[in-house]
Amino acid sequence: MVGYCPTCGKPVYFGEKKRSLGRDYHPLCLKCFRCKRQLTAGQHAEYDEKPYCSNCYMKLFGPRGLMSMCFMFGHPSMRPSTCCSALLVQLYTTH
Ligand SMILES: [Zn+2]
Ligand SMILES: [Zn+2]
Repeated sequence: MVGYCPTCGKPVYFGEKKRSLGRDYHPLCLKCFRCKRQLTAGQHAEYDEKPYCSNCYMKLFGPRGLMSMCFMFGHPSMRPSTCCSALLVQLYTTH
């Protein structure tokens, strides 16, 4: 089965794919859609099927994106207010 890379839209063949958040990327395409920073599989946000680093995601989509961000980062069992406010503090203090 051939998947399509969300970043460049081209087919991703088995052997060259890098899977993250349920999507297959080319290894070089797993980067933030906005700042082009290389991302770590499973440790980034996504919006509208495009990958973003957490920094850009917050800048672009703000606190309203927090709930889905929580979900993206794999904290579905935690209360969004708890895990994402911690994340928010982290983002704003490190940048
Ligand atoms: Zn690609
Ligand atoms: Zn970014």
